[in-house]
Amino acid sequence: MSLSEQYAASLSAETVVVAAGRPARERDEPVNPPIVLSSTYFGTGALGDGDRGYGRYSNPTWDPFEEALGQLEGSELPGLLYASGLAAVSSALSLLPAGGVLVMPSHSYAGSLVMATELAQKGFLELRTVDITDTDAVKAQIAPQGPDAKAARMLWLESPTNPMLGIADIRELTAAAHRVGAIVVTDNTFSTPLVQQPLSLGSDVVLHSVTKYLAGHSDVVLGALVTSNPDIRAALLHHRIIHGGIAGPFEAWLALRGLRTLALRVERSQGTAAVLAERLSRHPLIDGIRFPGLPTDPGHERAKTQMSGFGSIVCVQIAPVAGLSGAEAADKLVRALQLWLPATSLGGVESLIERRRRHAAEPLSVPDNLVRLSVGIENIEDLWADLKQALDSLGR
Ligand SMILES: *Cc1c(COP(=O)(O)O)cnc(C)c1O
Repeated sequence: MSLSEQYAASLSAETVVVAAGRPARERDEPVNPPIVLSSTYFGTGALGDGDRGYGRYSNPTWDPFEEALGQLEGSELPGLLYASGLAAVSSALSLLPAGGVLVMPSHSYAGSLVMATELAQKGFLELRTVDITDTDAVKAQIAPQGPDAKAARMLWLESPTNPMLGIADIRELTAAAHRVGAIVVTDNTFSTPLVQQPLSLGSDVVLHSVTKYLAGHSDVVLGALVTSNPDIRAALLHHRIIHGGIAGPFEAWLALRGLRTLALRVERSQGTAAVLAERLSRHPLIDGIRFPGLPTDPGHERAKTQMSGFGSIVCVQIAPVAGLSGAEAADKLVRALQLWLPATSLGGVESLIERRRRHAAEPLSVPDNLVRLSVGIENIEDLWADLKQALDSLGR
């Protein structure tokens, strides 16, 4: 570690993303960590805790990113990198005992929902999905239910949700889950630790699709978990070793490189998203908008109590126009864009857009005319001009 622990703890997040995870400040040390390509490590004695042992147990290239992310999420323990966000989801779900009740937002990330649904169908867990913005409804699902009065063993939180941008009351729901002894996992992908720190709101585990904002350039697929509970971390690490969802060294290195500019990227894209959301909300062909930064958004007041910003994802519904249904108009809008990239995913430097229901796995409760915008870091007027020309072309 390049900075003393005490000094590092006093630094702000904008500095941590730049300064954490550097090699030692010693003569001729490189300023960036190397990429270590080795599947095994020299050793002659009995393998113990802390030995690298083998490439599936540990790789020095993971350490700087894990150290930085742990610090950013407010944990004294390093995070854990995974091969993808969903590998991290799989590892987090492994904390649930067999047959245990999992309470999950009905608008979670589609992949998390598919995984939980399939595990439930095989009898590995009992799934209760719920509108995560409805605090009383979530509490009812956490509470004991059914013939054998089972309470939740795990509460899954995602806030804002993907793509409905629903805001969960993380503090209140976490406290309710803890009262029945359930573990709380929060998917913090949309907010990043710069905007929301779920551990400080009571969550036990924080999850990231590092693919999105943390790496930030749409060039790697990675995931991560962070916890400040040593027993939970040990269980997750064991799962990662045995189930094998480990990160490649090149990807880990790229994620750290991406993290260096996280604060700049988040500041820029959040600012642009707020302005674009306001302009979009006044366009006659926008038939509904979700962005927690808009004072009229149902999640606005709650978001202010637990987020330091509002993120840079905006969702709009497109009105039917010129004989087209809303969904058809949304598809036409996406095709008419020149700068915004039609693609799934989010959190990269480039602005991406997609109609979510083009995915068969997307919950049917997501409106078919809903378009998700991931605002990047391009010039704001270029982004707006492109959206406006595409919207204006719909009536033609
Ligand atoms: C993308 C995403 C995931 C899954 O991550 P991958 O890196 O694609 O496996 C999980 N949660 C959220 C909120 C996401 O956006």
